[in-house]
Amino acid sequence: MMQCGACSQALLALMSLSLGLAADELLCACDVPHCSLPSCMGKVCFISKRKEEGAIVQHRGCLSQNILEHCHTAVTEQYGMRCCDSSMCNAELELFLQGEEALGHAPSLPSLLLMIFIPLLTLLILVVLTALFCWKVAQHHHKKSDLGDMDLMLKASMVGDSTLEDLLSDDCTTGSGSGLPFLVQRTVARQITLVECVGKGRYGEVWRGVWHGESVAVKIFSSRDEQSWFRETEIYNTVLLRHDNILGELGGQAGLKGPRSSCLHGSGSSPHPGFIASDMTSRNSSTQLWLITHYHENGSLYDYLQRTALDVETCLVLASSIICGLVHLHVEIFGTQGKPAIAHRDLKSRNILVKSNQQCCIADLGLAVMHSQGSDYLDIGNNPRVGTKRYMAPEVLSEQIRTDCFESYKQTDVWAYGLVLWEITRRTVVNGIVEEYRPPFFDAVPSDPSFEDMKKVVCIDQQTPVIPNRLFSDSVLSALAKIMKECWYQSPSARLTALRIKKTLRKLNSSLEKPKLEQ
Ligand code: ADP
Ligand code: MG
Repeated sequence: MMQCGACSQALLALMSLSLGLAADELLCACDVPHCSLPSCMGKVCFISKRKEEGAIVQHRGCLSQNILEHCHTAVTEQYGMRCCDSSMCNAELELFLQGEEALGHAPSLPSLLLMIFIPLLTLLILVVLTALFCWKVAQHHHKKSDLGDMDLMLKASMVGDSTLEDLLSDDCTTGSGSGLPFLVQRTVARQITLVECVGKGRYGEVWRGVWHGESVAVKIFSSRDEQSWFRETEIYNTVLLRHDNILGELGGQAGLKGPRSSCLHGSGSSPHPGFIASDMTSRNSSTQLWLITHYHENGSLYDYLQRTALDVETCLVLASSIICGLVHLHVEIFGTQGKPAIAHRDLKSRNILVKSNQQCCIADLGLAVMHSQGSDYLDIGNNPRVGTKRYMAPEVLSEQIRTDCFESYKQTDVWAYGLVLWEITRRTVVNGIVEEYRPPFFDAVPSDPSFEDMKKVVCIDQQTPVIPNRLFSDSVLSALAKIMKECWYQSPSARLTALRIKKTLRKLNSSLEKPKLEQ
């Protein structure tokens, strides 16, 4: 740079000499019309600007002594001039008319955008980074928390001293099926003390737990059956399953007050949301999956039938309540308070619970499928689990079931319902006679039958359970026997529908009630 500066000085001196400049004369940049060269000689150099018809005309040139006063005129919006007094000083000189400077330097649109966007972008990045950091910290805390870990002070205070019924009947319930907001579900889950193991399914354990002095059932899924937990939680959370005969119903349970409506008496579904909570915690670095529902001290229908012989009336209550639950599952209800149609796919006496009023409720929705007519959407879930072989319909065993058709799943539920009905009626006393409890096909397959065992009996030999003769000496039981047979047709479409069975049983019920009223 220094060298270049020296060069140009030398060049100017050389040019002055060659142009024959006097000692007080300057060489200036010149672009006025009379300049034949890009430079001129004078006492001072100038730059001038003039507005002509809206356009700005700029000139550079030399001034002789006698017009130096031009240099002292003020710069206006229309005209301005600036002078300098060293060789070629006006070449780089800049001049702005009044108002032009601001205009000339007004930021262009792209630079304006940049000026806005860069701070905005920086802010956004900062916010995202902060959020990420907070999330990481929260995750870290969550991992550290355990069942007894009451880091959930806020959530705990939300639950306070409420009873389950307070919580479930409160207006704080969400529009979703579960009835309880997620945080309350977690709080309830983390305040439960496990007391005793009351059941073992194939996929986990069910415990009686205590929450604020009330018994609750805690189903603990083994982590390899995450899909069942996910499915059951998903169904309870997305679907309004408030029904007397679906697990979770509040009324009718000992110690819990509140109105109970029963489908057996035609009053439809319960006003209470049923399912209580679902929770996933990390304990000793393994995942614990919980599903918390109402506790039914009678246990499963399977357990109940082992120890209880039934009279015809109770037999009918059990049978009718199960079909009411099944119809509620199978039917699609439209509207905001509606539900999709659901097929259970694992109906059996172990998946049915007996409440204290002898009505049953259907449990274990881990394998259920959902269907919505409007969207014709069949949600089969993502569960590798299959139903219980002993209860599988012939089309399932022969693998000919139309898996893309929702009706097929309902028809397999009806097959299984027939088998449950058979289990119940065997335990019903007629003329002082009753059979021991036995599972369906007890006389045809071994205790833990294989798929092939079942296939041979049900598809190839086309056997159905033997109906005890004594049932035909009672009008109600012979009607039940007829229903069973119509649940066991090889052809799925020939079977009764759950709704048809429900209607038949309702008639049977009223025929039982009438003589009583007449007494
Ligand atoms: P799995 O999916 O492992 O088969 P289930 O939901 O069928 O689990 O429950 C297994 C057993 O636990 C049932 O057969 C029953 O004996 C008992 N059980 C389940 N839920 C309850 C409940 N809410 N109250 C009382 N006992 C229950
Ligand atoms: Mg089960």
